[in-house]
Amino acid sequence: MTAVAFAPVSPLSPAETDASNSTCAPLAVVGRDVRVPLVTGGEAEYAALDYAASAPCLQRVWDDVSAYLPYYGSVHRGAGYLSQLSTDLYERSRTTVAEYLGTRVGDVVLFTRGTTDSLNLLASVLPSATRVFVFETEHHAALLPWRRTADVTHLAAPSSHAEAVASLDAALAADADEHGGDRPRLVCVTGASNVTGELFPVRELAQVARRHGARIVLDAAQLAPHHAVSLAELDVDWVAFSGHKLYAPFGAGVLAGRGDWLADAEPYLAGGGASRSVTADAVEWNTGPARHEAGSPNVIGAYAIASACRALSEAGLDALAAREDALLARLRAGLAGIPEVRTLDLFGPESARVSVLSFVVEGWNSSRFAAALSAEYGIGVRDGLFCAHPLVRRLLGGRADAPTECGAPDAPSGEQNLNAIRVSFGAGTPDEHVDRFVGAVRELVRRGAKWTYRTDGGRCVPESDPRGPARL
Ligand code: PLP
Repeated sequence: MTAVAFAPVSPLSPAETDASNSTCAPLAVVGRDVRVPLVTGGEAEYAALDYAASAPCLQRVWDDVSAYLPYYGSVHRGAGYLSQLSTDLYERSRTTVAEYLGTRVGDVVLFTRGTTDSLNLLASVLPSATRVFVFETEHHAALLPWRRTADVTHLAAPSSHAEAVASLDAALAADADEHGGDRPRLVCVTGASNVTGELFPVRELAQVARRHGARIVLDAAQLAPHHAVSLAELDVDWVAFSGHKLYAPFGAGVLAGRGDWLADAEPYLAGGGASRSVTADAVEWNTGPARHEAGSPNVIGAYAIASACRALSEAGLDALAAREDALLARLRAGLAGIPEVRTLDLFGPESARVSVLSFVVEGWNSSRFAAALSAEYGIGVRDGLFCAHPLVRRLLGGRADAPTECGAPDAPSGEQNLNAIRVSFGAGTPDEHVDRFVGAVRELVRRGAKWTYRTDGGRCVPESDPRGPARL
């Protein structure tokens, strides 16, 4: 019986990565042709170069979501046909993501709101007396959740992969010497820095954690959009990522990995779905993923992530990465030809990285520079400290009290800039957006801004903007 006409554009079964593809064209994304008004008059095609914050939706994901929407229904709580269909879609999305992430027997996949939510969830299930080890180079989402529920050891920013591995090794050894190695220990590490794009040596760090009997969680928010991430291959205990950075901006994220700490802990949220049976003064909690997914599940978000996994696998992650590497080399070569630009690195210019790059421009306040790129060129980048204050301040030469807002005066030549500019791109970025960006940076540096800017509500904005507020 085939009573329902819903036919997913990309069926929910794993796709083989076509490793034979050495490179590929940009993937179609929604909004590729959007034009934006310029403060100087006229308009330009929007160059979205802030993928590290949020990537555009893949056209395939949007097509899948649109095809499903007429059949939308509640998940795990409805007798109707569409509720059953939606429940099935939600659970099959879980299976697709599990396959995409190379889960092992006993691993679970939880749908969350994003990486921040995933890591807070994990922090909430840590056994008592857990000590967490985390590099101070992490995004705040990976730096802060543990402070609420565990003892934390902050590892200094490493200047090489070898130093990162040695520093974790030493910290775990020192902890074992002091406490006998019996207490639960968790290492939290990012796959790729959201500031410099540089890769961390995840496999080696996992080996160190294993050797010391510690567990390890991978923050793959910036890695997953650019490279395959496999729990089994990397030998990490958990992985967390966000749908909106993986071309699936529908409010969902993932925490996947070992089920034991999750099964033993109180539910992350108390409510429907997490509870099996409730009386006036007692509650029996569910087991499995439902235990930590209280409330109505975000089936659209989960399905969108599954669709993105499918689309990226089909396009070939290696081919996508090869294309991004070539584009990144072109970007770096272009910026290298502008002496006023200083790019920020932890491990040095030759280190492996994804297409995320932060820089400062001598003589410019970064926020004013980013505002001018937007208002005068239609190019969207990010400015600030990127929710990684300790790392960015360190890379900029360190004032701990550096203002985080945009209103700081232009850095006089030779003085430290107080925040940075970040350019990032991905599978949907056409070459010409990167070329346009390099051209705009060069022109701004050579000729200066054509408009004046002021600070408003912490953002740097054009003075007397003739375009009025940006709205739909
Ligand atoms: N981890 C890293 C490395 C990130 O770059 C981000 C977001 O920029 C996060 C975690 C938090 O992700 P989200 O805001 O989707 O929760």
